[in-house]
Amino acid sequence: MKLLAEILGMTNFCNLRCTYCDWKMRPIERLSDEGRSAAAARLRRIGDIVAADYPSVVFVEYSGGEPFVYPAIVESLLDTFPDHWVRISTNGTLIRPQHIAKLAGRKAYLAMSLDGHTQRANLPRFGESAALLARVSDTLSALLAAGVPTMLLCTLNQANIDGFPAFVDHLSATYPAAIRDGLLMLPAHCVSEYEKENGKPTITQAYSFLTYVLTRGPESPLIAPIWPHYVRLAEFIIATTCKAYRESGREDALPPAWRARYPQNGSFARSCFLHDWQVCFHFLDDAIAGDGSYRSWGCGMRGVGDLGLYQIDKKESVAAHRQSVRAGSPSFPAAHPTGRKCPLLEDCLVDWNAIDMIFAGDITLESAREWSVMFRDPAIGDAVRLAQAEYSGQAA
Ligand code: SF4
Ligand code: SF4
Repeated sequence: MKLLAEILGMTNFCNLRCTYCDWKMRPIERLSDEGRSAAAARLRRIGDIVAADYPSVVFVEYSGGEPFVYPAIVESLLDTFPDHWVRISTNGTLIRPQHIAKLAGRKAYLAMSLDGHTQRANLPRFGESAALLARVSDTLSALLAAGVPTMLLCTLNQANIDGFPAFVDHLSATYPAAIRDGLLMLPAHCVSEYEKENGKPTITQAYSFLTYVLTRGPESPLIAPIWPHYVRLAEFIIATTCKAYRESGREDALPPAWRARYPQNGSFARSCFLHDWQVCFHFLDDAIAGDGSYRSWGCGMRGVGDLGLYQIDKKESVAAHRQSVRAGSPSFPAAHPTGRKCPLLEDCLVDWNAIDMIFAGDITLESAREWSVMFRDPAIGDAVRLAQAEYSGQAA
C-alpha cells in the first residue's frame, strides 16, 4: 500500500554548505522560464500518476537541495497536490513572509532542519553565523504564528546530543500552544552511515540520552506522544555506537553490559515498513527542470533497492516504472512486501520512523493525533487504520 510519494528536485542547489551534506553542490543559477514550466508540467505529471496508480497516497514529500532556492517549483508542487499533506524539507533560511502566506491554511507542512537552539548545536549547518540561526528561529516563530505545521528535523550527533534536553525544554517553554495544537513536532533522528564523518555520539553520551528518554521523555509534550520512536532512537544510537567502537578497535571502552547486549553489529529487534508505503521520483541535479529523467528506489530515503532510471515525459517509461514498483527489487521483493528486512536496517533511522511506527501500530492513532494536527485529518486517520491493519503484528 502506497501512502507517500517522495519527490527530489534541484538536488545540487542549496545556499548552505553543511559539513555533513553528501550532495555535490553547484552554484545557484536562475531558473529559466522554460525550466520553470517544465518543472511545473512534470509535477502535474506526477500528480496524474499518483492519482491513477497510487490512489492511497496521502503524503507527498519534496526536497532538494534547498527547495526555497526555487520557490516557483514549491508553488507548482502545492498547486499540484491541494488534497495531500505536502511536506517540504527545508533548511529554513530562505523562507520569507510571502512563502508562509502560501503555506498557511492548507494541507502542507515544513520539515525544517534545526539541530538545537544554540550556535554550537548548529555548527555543522550555520558555522559561526549567528544571523542564520536567528533567521531560522524567527521563521519558526512566524510559521507557528501563521498556523503552518512545522516538523523540526534534529539530527543527533556528538556535538548536539548533550544539549538535546535543553532544546526540548526551550521549545516547550517557547511554544506551548503550538505543541498542544499539534503544530510543532520534533521526531529527532540520527544518521549513522553517510559517507562523511558525522560525529557519532560517545557511549557515555548515548547512555545519557537513553536515560533522558526513559526518565524525562514521558513527561515531555514533544516526546511523550511518540515515545516509542524515542526509545527506538536511543537504542539505535547505543547499538550503532557500540558497532563504531568495535570497528575502530575501541571495544574495551564499552561497558561490559553493552558489549554483551550488542555483540556483533548494530542490530536490535526492529522493523521498518517505509519501503512498502512509499514510491519515489528522484530527479537528480536539475533534471526536473531539464531532461526529465528520474531514478526510483524501493526505499528512496537511503537509496536502497534500485528500480532504475526513467523518463517522466515518456508514457512507456512511466509504465515501466509502475511495473518495476509492482515487481519490487532484490532488496524488497514483491513476494515479501513486508516480510523482508531492509538491508540497511542496522544503519538507518530517519525521522519518518515516527510515522512508520504509527502506521505499524507501535504508536496509537490517539497518540498520533495528540502529536500532530495532520493525524486529526479524517483522511489521514483512515490511512492509519488501513496501514495498521496491514502492518500490525508483522514487526521483526
Ligand atoms: S541544507 Fe541540506 S542540502 Fe543544503 S547543504 Fe545542508 S544538508 Fe545539504
Ligand atoms: S531502514 Fe532506512 S533504508 Fe531501510 S526501509 Fe527503512 S527508511 Fe528505508
